[in-house]
Amino acid sequence: MKHRHLLLFPLLCLPFVLFSQVRPALDYYLPKINFNPTIPIPASYLGYEVGEWHVNHDQLVGYMRELDRVSDRISLQVYGRSHEGRPMLCLTITDPANHARLEEIKNTRSQIVDPAQSGKVDLKNLPAVNYMGYSIHGNEASGSNASMLVAYYLAAAQTPEVEQLLKNTVILLDPCFNPDGLQRFSSWVNSRHSLHGSPDPMGDEFNEPWPRGRYNHYWFDLNRDWLVVQQPESAGRVALFQEWHPNVLTDHHEMGSNSTFFFQPGVPTRVNPLTPAHNQELTAKIAEFHARLLSENRVQFFTGENFDDFYYGKGSTYPDVQGSIGILFEQASSRGSVQETDNGLLTFPYSVKNQVLASLSTLKAVGEMRLELNEYLRDFYKTALDEARKDEVKGYLFADNRDLPGRELLSLLMRHRIEVRNVAENATVNGQTFSSGNAFWVPSEQPQYRLVKAIFGRQTTFQDSIFYDISAWTLPDAFGIKWVSVSAKEFNPQWISKQTGVGLTSRYGVSRIAQPAYAYVIGAAGYEVPKVLAQLLEEGIRVKVAMKPFESDGQKFAAGSLVISSEKQPFDEAALLERMNNLSVELPVFAINNGLTTGGPDIGSSNFPVVHSPKILMLTGEGINPEAAGEIWHLLDTRYGIPVTMVNAERFSEVNLLKYNVLILPDGSYNKAPSPEKIREFANGGGTVVALGGVLRWLKNANLAALEFRNAAYDPTGRRPYEMYDEDRGAKRMAGAIFEAELDLSHPICFGYERPSLPMFLGDTLFVETTKNPYATPAIFSKEPLLAGYIHLKQKPLVANSAAVTVGGIGRGRMICFAGNPNFRAFWYGTNRLFANAIFFGNLVSGEAVEKK
Ligand SMILES: [Zn+2]
Repeated sequence: MKHRHLLLFPLLCLPFVLFSQVRPALDYYLPKINFNPTIPIPASYLGYEVGEWHVNHDQLVGYMRELDRVSDRISLQVYGRSHEGRPMLCLTITDPANHARLEEIKNTRSQIVDPAQSGKVDLKNLPAVNYMGYSIHGNEASGSNASMLVAYYLAAAQTPEVEQLLKNTVILLDPCFNPDGLQRFSSWVNSRHSLHGSPDPMGDEFNEPWPRGRYNHYWFDLNRDWLVVQQPESAGRVALFQEWHPNVLTDHHEMGSNSTFFFQPGVPTRVNPLTPAHNQELTAKIAEFHARLLSENRVQFFTGENFDDFYYGKGSTYPDVQGSIGILFEQASSRGSVQETDNGLLTFPYSVKNQVLASLSTLKAVGEMRLELNEYLRDFYKTALDEARKDEVKGYLFADNRDLPGRELLSLLMRHRIEVRNVAENATVNGQTFSSGNAFWVPSEQPQYRLVKAIFGRQTTFQDSIFYDISAWTLPDAFGIKWVSVSAKEFNPQWISKQTGVGLTSRYGVSRIAQPAYAYVIGAAGYEVPKVLAQLLEEGIRVKVAMKPFESDGQKFAAGSLVISSEKQPFDEAALLERMNNLSVELPVFAINNGLTTGGPDIGSSNFPVVHSPKILMLTGEGINPEAAGEIWHLLDTRYGIPVTMVNAERFSEVNLLKYNVLILPDGSYNKAPSPEKIREFANGGGTVVALGGVLRWLKNANLAALEFRNAAYDPTGRRPYEMYDEDRGAKRMAGAIFEAELDLSHPICFGYERPSLPMFLGDTLFVETTKNPYATPAIFSKEPLLAGYIHLKQKPLVANSAAVTVGGIGRGRMICFAGNPNFRAFWYGTNRLFANAIFFGNLVSGEAVEKK
């Protein structure tokens, strides 16, 4: 007990320097009850008490494996691997008798989410499922450190309450949602840990270097990825979620050090309208359990503010659209071992303890509310189907089967157990035809109706104007594929295959070319054209690109098609033919046997310039948005296979830029700016600069780009009540919405696109004027551009007819500027090619068709 007093009331007792020396014992964290002595306490495995050091991922895994080995209440599975190959763990914790019938429990649970079967299920003997997850942000480490104590408690506690709890509940405990981030953070913070530490917030211990441990390997925020599932960490846990249909999913985070403790419900006006009101009522009922335990322990906390339940990509919101209750916990972060805060000294053990308390209160709530939660889960899917039958939208058609984004959307829907059918007969809606064998149908009338709406909906009106995260994510728009919502009146049941499940056809039905040809053509369209182009260039193959459409023997080719002549290649004709017949991606290759074309320029024309292999340098470091930089790295590395040299802006002055021909400047404030002169020199020498988002402001101020911005500042005038301040400020922020852009399909930046309109993502109120040069705005937002999401009424007109992409020129170089983010969170497949085209074809834009600086 002495320790407890020391840690809770530090200022009363001792000078702070002693706190890092205090060894918080087990009874600081856990109630004094009987524990099974054969179960090792965390300290006996770690060699230190929880909270003395930050646990690293290897140690965390080691301890969990040890518990699995000794406890008949626990079975451990590795459900996936992080990018860096770390195991993702799920501990299934329940009564040994339940362990013997896990498959039966799972089966029953899959029946209760199926309205066709749920009426028959007897809920009386069905355990609740409680999915507990920790530290999805790696530098919010109190969660993962607490998970060892929670797992120990569940394995070792010998009380009638815990035994009853384990009979009533199956617990899925994931000690770390983000292994790579936790490892990065723990290495940093432990490496700055002193025995006599200073709690001064300025210290290195509390200020880890860029990109920080919040993110995964490619600097993605995994707590935005639950819905869009673009990272391996999410894929595994979404599969677990869909396998178990948990009643509750907890998500343990940390927030600003001067705060206290938060648990949901959050802001009532910011709950996604697809989430039933009963979800929030149950969240509030569970909250009473947290409130009681935290109050008993004299912990300050708050609810109903700051955090919301709108975007379904967050761990605490994804469950809410599937009959489950997602619960967000936020503990004020000590970051290091002890930090000075407005609330006095905040120690790491104290923050770990609060996460333990919130875990124990959740366990108790789920155990006691078992029947109510299972009934809610069952009724959620029953009412979903009732609502679906009343919906005027009968379902959604989308294409296409052949290209990667269509297939990726299909696989995403499958991951969420959404029913999809093949289109068996050509379907035409609003003048758009979806051909049989190449399109899919997603019916509204299915148990996952609400999630289907969350994925295909285009919401533009909102109860609140403040969003914690993006306000729109309509996935078929983001994936850039052809799709349409179909009303009952337009729907024809003949279109749809009678067979359940989906079959994929061959992508293009590519056939081999038998004889060496004069030249080979790869069509312009296709998500993976840049991948193939990068490979061919890397092998030294000379690839040219058609700047104009052409025709050969009746076959038409769009501008942007790649042409590989047999002449002047590093391979002989036979080897080149072999190479063209074996592209790594299934794309059709056409053989051309006459240099004289039947339309457009001839093959030897200067309208087929040579494409240069990109040598890319991307700036990173303070002042640059790690997520934006990570999205680019991830795209180039994992999807296009293009090497990128990442250089911290601090070292930029040391770099010999002659080695590079493309410089990428990701979104950011650039408050630790690189030398503008060096960038000017690079461009003058003929380099291509690709600039995105916030850096455009810096480029203009540094006099590097001829850009004009539309004034986005909307300031309320006259006298306003002080209480309106937060709302006025929040309403002006645009957290991320979808706008329609019009493409100039003849421009090299738009090569490969076939439809003139394209949804694009804007995550900032940066509105760019179109260029004075009439040819230098290849993508422009349309007159009524808002497709989905929130934007302030006064700002909406500023987007209309503003530039989405501009091409500037400095000396012999080109500067391609993106107002928005074409690579947002890896699920914006639809705009990735604009970005890739900027890299490959930016330097081919005529010097007369750019906005000169
Ligand atoms: Zn967090």
